[in-house]
Amino acid sequence: MLSGLPPYMPVDSSSQTGPSTGPRRLFFDSHMHTPLCKHAEGHPVEYAAEGWEAGLKGIIMTCHSPMPNGFSHRVRMDPADFDRYVELVAEGAGRAPDGFEVRLGLESDFFPGMEEWLADLHRQADFHYILGSVHWHIPEYLDAFWTGDIFAFRQQYFWHLAESAECGLFDCLSHPDLIKNAAPESWDFEEMRPVIIEALDRIARTGVAMELNTSGLYKANPEMNPGPQMLALMAERDIPVVIGSDSHIPRRVGDLFLAALGALENAGYENVSYFENRRRLDLPIDTVRESLMTFDSQFA
Ligand SMILES: [Zn+2]
Ligand SMILES: [Zn+2]
Repeated sequence: MLSGLPPYMPVDSSSQTGPSTGPRRLFFDSHMHTPLCKHAEGHPVEYAAEGWEAGLKGIIMTCHSPMPNGFSHRVRMDPADFDRYVELVAEGAGRAPDGFEVRLGLESDFFPGMEEWLADLHRQADFHYILGSVHWHIPEYLDAFWTGDIFAFRQQYFWHLAESAECGLFDCLSHPDLIKNAAPESWDFEEMRPVIIEALDRIARTGVAMELNTSGLYKANPEMNPGPQMLALMAERDIPVVIGSDSHIPRRVGDLFLAALGALENAGYENVSYFENRRRLDLPIDTVRESLMTFDSQFA
């Protein structure tokens, strides 16, 4: 120590529930799963415990929606498990650390022809947030849209992404360049740029948000979804962004959030968003970063 100054004292995270004027927990991880989708593990209460450690104010559970007629049933909850899903999230909320929020959301698949079914599903519970996903890698999608031409397939993906915003069912579009993991060795952003611009112009007109998904760094094309060039095009169009870890195991909650905030700033963003009662809330990136660094056990 250079002087008689007291050592830095981390803020006691248990003191933030009262009407304190100091830093507060502010942000949410808005994308994570439950074992009901058959490829994730951990009870929501375990995701909540990790979210608390990561300095978050809460988490939004967004497990893979049920779909009709056995559509990609191996990687999603069965329609008969939907009530159990709502219960599981409520159990997580009831057993979470004091003041920590565990909220109900859903990751629904966009697939042409399924819109009415999803509209009805989304009325079956009080959701805070609904993600819409184009999952190009599921067998039903490949059967319907793979023609042997990778450029055409990528283009179709971005057209679907725009349609998924325009259909009005979703608050935010998940991992919106997931297609770069199809034949990742030949992915060329510049080749796709005109198609992506056309899709983003359509999405921007809807006001629907887009996700910055940190799990992309663990995929075949190891970049967040979307990558920096697409994020910059989104920023130019003022498309709001929600950050999600897409955790399928509890310990990934809040994973790479500081890196994600940095990526947003580099792209030209000043705010980052999350949803409550299906309404978007925006927070300054600086404030979110400060709150995470105050409460994350890694930094405190
Ligand atoms: Zn999944
Ligand atoms: Zn997904």
